[in-house]
Amino acid sequence: MTKKHACPTYPHFLHGADYNPEQWLHDKSIWDEDMRLLQLANCNELSVGIFSWSTLEPQEGQYDFSFLDETIERIGKAGGKVILATPSGARPRWLAEKYPEVLRVGPDGVREHFRARHNHCPTSPVYREKVRKINSLLAQRYGNNDTVVAWHISNEYGGQCRCELCTNAFRDYLRKKFDGDIEKLNRAYWTTFWSHNYDSFDQIEPPGDHTEVAVHGLNLDWRRFVTEQTISFIENETAPIREHSPHLPVTINMMFEFYDLDYHKVSRVIDIASWDSYPEWHSGDDAIMAEKTAFWHDLYRSLKDRPFLLMESTPSLVNWKPYNKLKAPGLDVLSSMQAVAHGSDSVQYFQWRKSRGSSEKFHGAVVSHDGTEHTRVFRSVQETGRLLKQLDQITGTLTNAKAAVIFDWENMWALDDCQGYAQHDKKYFDTCYAYHRQFWQRGIDCDIVSPKADLSRYQIVVAPMLYLVDEETARNLEGYVRGGGNLYGTYMLGTVDETDLCHLGGIPGLGLRQVFGILAEEIDTLYPHDRQHAQLDGQLHELVDYCEVIHPEGAKVLATYDDGWYKGSPALTVNHYGAGKAYYQTCRDSGSLADRAFTEILQELGMDTLLDMPGILPHGLTAHSRTDGEYTYLFVENYDGTATYEVPLKNEMTDLLTGESVSKVTLPPYGLAVLKSK
Ligand SMILES: [Zn+2]
Repeated sequence: MTKKHACPTYPHFLHGADYNPEQWLHDKSIWDEDMRLLQLANCNELSVGIFSWSTLEPQEGQYDFSFLDETIERIGKAGGKVILATPSGARPRWLAEKYPEVLRVGPDGVREHFRARHNHCPTSPVYREKVRKINSLLAQRYGNNDTVVAWHISNEYGGQCRCELCTNAFRDYLRKKFDGDIEKLNRAYWTTFWSHNYDSFDQIEPPGDHTEVAVHGLNLDWRRFVTEQTISFIENETAPIREHSPHLPVTINMMFEFYDLDYHKVSRVIDIASWDSYPEWHSGDDAIMAEKTAFWHDLYRSLKDRPFLLMESTPSLVNWKPYNKLKAPGLDVLSSMQAVAHGSDSVQYFQWRKSRGSSEKFHGAVVSHDGTEHTRVFRSVQETGRLLKQLDQITGTLTNAKAAVIFDWENMWALDDCQGYAQHDKKYFDTCYAYHRQFWQRGIDCDIVSPKADLSRYQIVVAPMLYLVDEETARNLEGYVRGGGNLYGTYMLGTVDETDLCHLGGIPGLGLRQVFGILAEEIDTLYPHDRQHAQLDGQLHELVDYCEVIHPEGAKVLATYDDGWYKGSPALTVNHYGAGKAYYQTCRDSGSLADRAFTEILQELGMDTLLDMPGILPHGLTAHSRTDGEYTYLFVENYDGTATYEVPLKNEMTDLLTGESVSKVTLPPYGLAVLKSK
């Protein structure tokens, strides 16, 4: 195993922020101060040009790159690097006025006026041409500039457009998918229901406020189309960039709990995964928030199977949530280093300097409106920068996870769209978090993967609520277990196919019934106030939301229901299949049933940490590792805001923050240790 740097053009930690000097063109003293403060803050990178289109092309075809020339030159002279953005995330007013087709049409069928950002039509040939032109000029001008280390394509892609161009493109997408045969589509969508059969592809409209939404297969294919159209837009953006600067990696900044795009697919057309992380710290239990954030760090690392970039985070607070709370002292550094513990090769902030007006003037920044280095936040950023310099040897190291949780956008869309179960909140995210927590709370590294990923490297794979299973997924799961893997599935697994048609002949469908050795017959959705119980090893465990009633067909029953008319029937089973094992949890538990089950399973698999603390760690304590094959780097993190922990290690390790050889570390509230061993 060797290193794989997120940014091979700069094999060090990137520490920086989004930078918008074009907002301060009238006052160059601010520009001077920015470069002085950049060095003082221990920062080495700025992301520029993200929303700069109206400065770069103030009128159609009139380009002025002087601000960017000077910005990149100044950053280079200050010893910094630049991640250069393409400006398509927000267009100039003239462009929308002259070419209204670039403006998005909403679910109500109404075209937007010029406003806001992230709201272009992804199909518009005019918008694609204008973006390609300016990207081409940027790539020719800066693609071989030594200060530029990567491309940041657009900003936070998302949303849907239902204009005529997009509607026609959707029809073409379906024509291709169903070989031009409308009857094939009708069968795949079960449109005879309510007499909703289509006679031709030209009758198809995107699901919206006043159009067809009752055909679930159509809704699902619309979401797939939106992902494909966004991918096609990204490819259009990156074509000139790859032509003129083939050595520079390309990234897009992705988001937390992002719903609209299937990032498993989108990640195919980028080189580095990066994301914008804005957890709601102190909104409840920080340990829970840390675990949820860890899930997304793990996902972005897993997308490209290599280190990722933390593209945006706030050094203090955001301004766009209902309540905008400051991060307590210590948590800023810890939450920044959390990304590194999970495989990030950067810590970057939105934003470098607070804008003076408009939407994000109160969003946290490295430099506040006072314009100095004499703030708590600035000192905290300095400290993170100091740590990153100290830990530079860790950049490019990998995470060798032996556990994985399957997370799938298509499954989530189908599940949320289906009418049944708990109608309005299926809790897919929360359920995936709950199983990821089984590893997080034990300090065991975990990947987050697509159901179609190569699973053979994992000792255990969890498939929470995997309602949608197509032929490819079924083959993948079956092959994994047959080859010796341990698969942990739950209620609803393998219920429908890729167009949301129910599998016939018993579920889990497509042969998974044999893999799990069970037949699922009915599912009982509990009222929110209902509490039931399952019995495992003589102990009762609380159940909520779902209890599926199943019949073992060869599987061994490990736990049983303790209430109601299905008392005594299975709540947890295990089946030997091929060289592996398939576990099936029939119910949603409040935590303790899965805690108990995973304690047994992980012990049996010999999966634990380098900490001399077997089992579930004390509240808020966790550990994660990175490796280059020769050395292991262990991050021990404490997200409890009040407890101090003495953490014994299995072996002597070098404390990279003190240089000492240690056999235990002491972690104060929000404390961090970074350790190294052969
Ligand atoms: Zn459109």
